Amino acid sequence: MAKSSSSQVITCKAAICWGIGEPLKVEEIQVEPPKSYEIRVKMLLASLCHTDILCTRGFPAPLFPRVLGHEGVGKVESIGEGVEDLEEGDLVIPTFLGECQECENCRSGKTNLCLKYPLILDGLMLDGTARMSINGQKLHHIFSCSTWSEYMVINANYVVKINPSIDLAHASFLSCGFSTGFGSAWREASVEKGSSVAVIGLGAVGLGAIEGARMQGASKIIGIDKNEKKREKGEAFGMTDFINPDGNSQKPISELIKDLTGGMGVDYCFECTGVAPFVNEALLATKPGKGETLVVGAGTHQTVPINFLSLLCGGTLKGSIFGGLKIKSDLPILLDKCKKKEFLLDNLFTDHHQVTLKDINKAFELLKQPDCIKILINI
Ligand SMILES: [Zn+2]
Ligand SMILES: [Zn+2]
Repeated sequence: MAKSSSSQVITCKAAICWGIGEPLKVEEIQVEPPKSYEIRVKMLLASLCHTDILCTRGFPAPLFPRVLGHEGVGKVESIGEGVEDLEEGDLVIPTFLGECQECENCRSGKTNLCLKYPLILDGLMLDGTARMSINGQKLHHIFSCSTWSEYMVINANYVVKINPSIDLAHASFLSCGFSTGFGSAWREASVEKGSSVAVIGLGAVGLGAIEGARMQGASKIIGIDKNEKKREKGEAFGMTDFINPDGNSQKPISELIKDLTGGMGVDYCFECTGVAPFVNEALLATKPGKGETLVVGAGTHQTVPINFLSLLCGGTLKGSIFGGLKIKSDLPILLDKCKKKEFLLDNLFTDHHQVTLKDINKAFELLKQPDCIKILINI
């Protein structure tokens, strides 16, 4: 069993959110060495995911101060006792889910929510303590990750080792957004060949859902976004039809989708924006009785009004975290596709959409540009 030579506290820079709606501050923090079954990771690259913005607004709980960022790639700097399948120097992507492959949920084949390594909502490590602090004050993590930091500590069961030949930016994009969309079409919905699909919101998650639907053989893939520039992006991943709701009278999105499907609606509708009223629109846009609605995008609304009759008549409304992907069983398959260049991930990114950690607040501004899908953060 390897024990790390590095057992010192590291002082390094990290992006901290101190309160709801406050701009991030890049400050010096202290990162403790990894405890048992943990690793300390030197972050190399990170990216901005929509959920990070929600976290600056206190999602899923107002835990401050907090080191943000949950997409990224890093190199293992040191390892704690008991970590057996990783070595110092390995390249990894941190994730917010674990997979023990043994608990009731892991064995069920029905969910990717492991009971032993759960989605962590209290901003702490599994033992209830933090590994990051600033001048003696505890810093909350974001889920099991905090990637906008030069160093972070994570339980080894929440990381996936990656092949060094993978484009690191692409690996970062696969650590949440794009994979979430792809998984929702592939694993969660198991979209059938020849079926019709609608995807609401064409950010990285929505484009991933389009790619997943294309790979599954969907014959009609409708993308919906109010940003006209997303038409080209959607088409690059296999979208067959585009709806810009702003350019179409006052009809609700569900009606616009029905107009493109002979009035029937689609077999599968993926809601990727996290805007609560769109969940009901997605449900109404599916075929009566057998349509499936997948809620994929995170949002801050507590409740959502749902059309009762559509559900009563047999509609399926299902939520999905990380697209139903299991990090040990499924994510390596996506990373392999990435390595083989089967995903056209260059379409998610242009060179001028990158910042350094110290300019992290610029990332939130860049994301408002109409042609911006992903932003890289050089740590
Ligand atoms: Zn498990
Ligand atoms: Zn995310």
